[in-house]
Amino acid sequence: MSALLEVKDIKKHFPIKNDAVFSREKRVLKAVDGISFSVKKGETLGLVGESGCGKSTAGRVMLKLLEPTSGEIYFKGENITNFRGEKLRKLRREMQLIFQDPYASLNPRKSIEKIISEPMKIFNIPREEREKRLDYLLEVVGLSAYHKQRYPHEFSGGQRQRIGIARSLALDPELVICDEPVSALDVSIQAQVINLMEDLQAEFDLTYVFIAHDLSVVHHISDRVAVMYLGELVEIGDAQEVYRDPKHPYTQALLSAVPQVNPNEEKQRIILKGDLPSPQNPPSGCKFHTRCPFAEEICRTSKPSLRKASENGVMAACHFVKEVVEA
Ligand code: SF4
Repeated sequence: MSALLEVKDIKKHFPIKNDAVFSREKRVLKAVDGISFSVKKGETLGLVGESGCGKSTAGRVMLKLLEPTSGEIYFKGENITNFRGEKLRKLRREMQLIFQDPYASLNPRKSIEKIISEPMKIFNIPREEREKRLDYLLEVVGLSAYHKQRYPHEFSGGQRQRIGIARSLALDPELVICDEPVSALDVSIQAQVINLMEDLQAEFDLTYVFIAHDLSVVHHISDRVAVMYLGELVEIGDAQEVYRDPKHPYTQALLSAVPQVNPNEEKQRIILKGDLPSPQNPPSGCKFHTRCPFAEEICRTSKPSLRKASENGVMAACHFVKEVVEA
């Protein structure tokens, strides 16, 4: 499988207004601070971390909804970092976003027909083709043509997310960035929507980047998982392996908080000290050292880079993860 999407050392820093009137110091919020990974065609990469770790910003940078401060983005082998105008418009057909909040992302004044057909209209798809596609999309997301003239407020949360998913598929994209698509839904509905997304992936040959703070949600759908902390990747690799044997202390702590399916299996909960530090003023060395139960002096001064931590290619950024050296 070749890489459909590749990001190389992407950074997204936001300038912050300086309160001190005469200060010349430029302050920045480092939302994404140098992440690199690729996503293969047909694969699902789960991108996880606490709120404020930069995962949603990273998703918007990948989609070119936000300009990166530095770094490069490749889509189907082509460098799209500096795409503008018509080139970017064409690219929008192939890369879509599913939003977290199905309540806020659907225009309450528009009918379902208008909401789903709008992207097709923008791309001048003929009316007859639009109508056919609309009926087909409603059917595949579990709604029906009968719902076309209704408005968003007439639907439940799960149905609204189905409408959001149908809209994201209107232009037959290859890549869909799913930004916490089930976190606003009841737990009972989450599994239904995730199962639907898996079915749609097979039907439409989709590639997903699935952003979530809940590791149990990502586990179900991901082929690989990437864990972010304060704008950086701390672990990435095969989802089953990361869940079975997490290498980075932060991943271990996140996984220890996931409820066990088997109540007889004992698992010790790792409670992290303090809150997530501010990305305006991140800790020196390993950014996780202020909360890590295993931190030592070196962690305060020296930043660990991602290293190969398993035969199967899991990478982790920790000074105390044993590096697997190629034979
Ligand atoms: Fe913890 Fe140090 Fe490893 Fe960072 S480098 S995760 S602080 S042990």
